[in-house]
Amino acid sequence: MHFSDLGLSPKVLSAVTDAGYSQPTPIQAGAIPHALQGKDVLGIAQTGTGKTAAFVLPMITRLEKGRARARMPRTLILEPTRELAAQVEENFTRYGKNHKLNVALLIGGVSFDDQERKLERGADVLIATPGRLLDHFERGKLLLTGVDILVIDEADRMLDMGFIPDIERICKLIPFTRQTLFFSATMPPEITKLTEQFLHAPVRVEVARAASTASTVTQRLVKSGSKPWDKREVLRKLIREEEDGLKNAIIFCNRKVEVSELFRSLVKHDFNAGALHGDMDQRARMTMLANFRDGKLKLLVASDVAARGLDIPDVSHVFNYDVPIHSEDYVHRIGRTGRAGRSGKSFTIATKSDTKYIDAIEKLIGQQIEWHDGDLSTVPASDSEDDAPRRGRGAPRRAGRKDGERDGRRERGKRGSKPAAAEEAEAVSAEPAADAGRSERKQAIRADNAERSAGHKGERGQKSGDTDRPGRNRPARRDEDDDKTVGFGDDVPAFMKIAVKV
Ligand code: AMP
Repeated sequence: MHFSDLGLSPKVLSAVTDAGYSQPTPIQAGAIPHALQGKDVLGIAQTGTGKTAAFVLPMITRLEKGRARARMPRTLILEPTRELAAQVEENFTRYGKNHKLNVALLIGGVSFDDQERKLERGADVLIATPGRLLDHFERGKLLLTGVDILVIDEADRMLDMGFIPDIERICKLIPFTRQTLFFSATMPPEITKLTEQFLHAPVRVEVARAASTASTVTQRLVKSGSKPWDKREVLRKLIREEEDGLKNAIIFCNRKVEVSELFRSLVKHDFNAGALHGDMDQRARMTMLANFRDGKLKLLVASDVAARGLDIPDVSHVFNYDVPIHSEDYVHRIGRTGRAGRSGKSFTIATKSDTKYIDAIEKLIGQQIEWHDGDLSTVPASDSEDDAPRRGRGAPRRAGRKDGERDGRRERGKRGSKPAAAEEAEAVSAEPAADAGRSERKQAIRADNAERSAGHKGERGQKSGDTDRPGRNRPARRDEDDDKTVGFGDDVPAFMKIAVKV
């Protein structure tokens, strides 16, 4: 099958040739002809399969006829994160190089004014995160009645992030006669329901089992004690062992607080590392990502949502600093390496308390993951269980929390969270206790607080946009690990982070 068999316009085909693609990927071959005919498409595909071009190429072809009107975009693409939205915009630049398309990006973290100017000029393509789109709509700057093509990308991640009510609302604001192109890596019941509600006789194109990991990835489990410094030492050892073959790596953590901690620890140990999480402002995220793509950064510490769908070709290693709680995240994380037939390696650091998550992952991927250097039976039992009692004793209680608050913590803990301030305090202060002097520790705390408050300003600035919008009946899970925030979350006062002698 060639691109020229799909029905794309000559100008689009020429851009595809310039991109260097010799033939369409399965999702492209399956979706493009139907999309060009104006049919609804349900594409079940992960990132890395070429799914972005599967909707961008037919869209550009169809946009050749007609022109945009002020405040009435002709097409709309919904993305769960700003990075994904920006990546889709890059795709329009690449494949639309022979067209004069007005593309507007509506994402949080950047000013409303510039975005409004673009809307005013008339957008052929509007790429948006749901929150910021609705904000513009509510300000009266946007009419959705001219949208002919709606793309909903990464629908299962939208679900994870609590965006489904927003998506439903947006779907209802767009004419019933539109074409809808809908993409999701997995099809949980909520997503199936959404497709039944909003797609009309869709053509279903499924390219790979969502639960499968590429055979080009060597997967290993690595035993560790459960303390943060145990895990960090295991990670450092692994990175050093892999030195020769390690071109670049993404290191995944379950929570953004761990992303910050681990990032600082790696830098302290002279690793060339950067971090990507939801508290960073938009510009910092994009710079970090660009540096990683350009090879200026070797290690990128990231949380799931921050890294979801990022188009970073040729990552040689994935390290799971934490075993993912949702087993599907494992598949997505591992999918960052071993792409396009290249070989890749993944290492998942596991503690005794992770066994139920590992079981779930192995069940999902239908295979057992080998242990790198012996399994957890050689890890002393005390190493895995001594976190529990400390949960009741650490800094939070000294702060005199009310019972209700502690109960709240416990409730959230059931959903997979870890203790908040106490563990965080340890992570900052107790890393190889031997090499952390008191003043250095204080400095780290100060730097930490400064970084956090800076990050918070950035985040507050965008609260009304992108992922977090106040006042709507959105389910609890909004931005990446927000639902896992416990206790003071990122606002832990500095005095609570000073090491406690027990
Ligand atoms: P996506 O799944 O859209 O994130 O695409 C993953 C990567 O595949 C991107 O780097 C694209 O540039 C690349 N890609 C898309 N289509 C093709 C194709 N037909 N042949 C080779 N690479 C492609």
